[in-house]
Amino acid sequence: MRIAVTAETDTAEPRVAATPETIKKFAGLGAEVSVQSGAGAGAGVSDADYAAAGARVAPDAASALADADILLRVRRPAASELAGAKPGLAVISIMDPFGHEAALASLAQTGATAFAMEFMPRITRAQSMDVLSSQANIAGYRAVIDAAAEYGRSFPMMMTAAGTVPAAKVFIMGVGVAGLQAIATARRLGAIVTATDVRPATKEQVESLGAKFLAVENEEFQQAQTAGGYAKEMSKEYQAAQAELTASHIAKQDIVITTALIPGRPAPRLISADMVRSMRAGSVIVDLAAERGGNCELTRPGETAIENGVKIVGALNLPGRMASTASSLYARNLLAFVETLVSKETKQLAINWDDELVKATALTRDGAVIDERFKKA
Ligand code: NAD
Repeated sequence: MRIAVTAETDTAEPRVAATPETIKKFAGLGAEVSVQSGAGAGAGVSDADYAAAGARVAPDAASALADADILLRVRRPAASELAGAKPGLAVISIMDPFGHEAALASLAQTGATAFAMEFMPRITRAQSMDVLSSQANIAGYRAVIDAAAEYGRSFPMMMTAAGTVPAAKVFIMGVGVAGLQAIATARRLGAIVTATDVRPATKEQVESLGAKFLAVENEEFQQAQTAGGYAKEMSKEYQAAQAELTASHIAKQDIVITTALIPGRPAPRLISADMVRSMRAGSVIVDLAAERGGNCELTRPGETAIENGVKIVGALNLPGRMASTASSLYARNLLAFVETLVSKETKQLAINWDDELVKATALTRDGAVIDERFKKA
């Protein structure tokens, strides 16, 4: 069995899908790994590091891909990148298929089997393959670090000979994986932290991290979590009550980190332009939902906007800003999934189409898109 790792073609993507650590483990599975020269450069992994781990370093993508059974990537490759690949090549990456149905159809036409890591079920067995969690955790940490860097004041309270500096007040909106890490990180830096979410289960989690929970805790709030553990889109009435509560709180905050998402929907709008204007100059908002439209009305994806002296950071791909750590976790997620696709006896690719992990993640097979949601190109 051969595994290929080609370089990411999106120049905004510094992460890489395999590390020397996972390459050694793949060898243990009986696989030969080819890595395109330079693939790890953005994540601080050199060709020599890969070679020392036992990979063959290929001069270009085509030679890395020759004869491969599996291609590992961070982002979905274009169909044109798979020219000359073996039919039935398993392509494993974050596929980002919503709104990209035509690209997925082209990928299907190459004969590749595309697996979307972001659709991995959140069940105990697949925890080690959960790329959303591994990357959101890093994003939550990095959002606080970026906020601290943008903020012209101190996070911790400082009692100095020249007088006392107050601690920063940090408000985290959305307490999923990223939000929890943001709370923990802001607390470690000495900030006074409050947090909000619409799922009641988060209240205890927030308090256990030493932060204060703040939310409209009515009947709708009690029902806001789906069976899958995600948030529902809230009613207009709830949104209005939430906005009222947020408006009075946000005016007193120095830093706001927003991470609120609803699966398959645009990010909920939680911060209006007026709320931003109520904050004092020098405050910072980091909007982790920028990629999905933003939780703040004034967020400009990929840019830092300034309104009334308040910075609104719309940074994209925060895990990519910590490419080495993000890659090492992502690569382990891929390794754990690949282990389920390989026969222990024959050491060959042996996809079990009845496995719930395969059913949930496979988007294309035998020349066609098989996930109903993306069939219309
Ligand atoms: P997510 O990225 O989908 O959303 C981030 C947070 O935003 C969520 O906590 C959500 O409730 C919140 N949110 C949505 N709308 C909001 C609004 N209007 N106002 C305030 N907050 C709002 O979430 P996630 O990080 O992917 O986590 C989702 C769930 O999955 C959680 O229950 C988490 O514990 C669970 N999870 C389970 C596993 C596992 O079992 N393997 C792993 C990771 C996460």
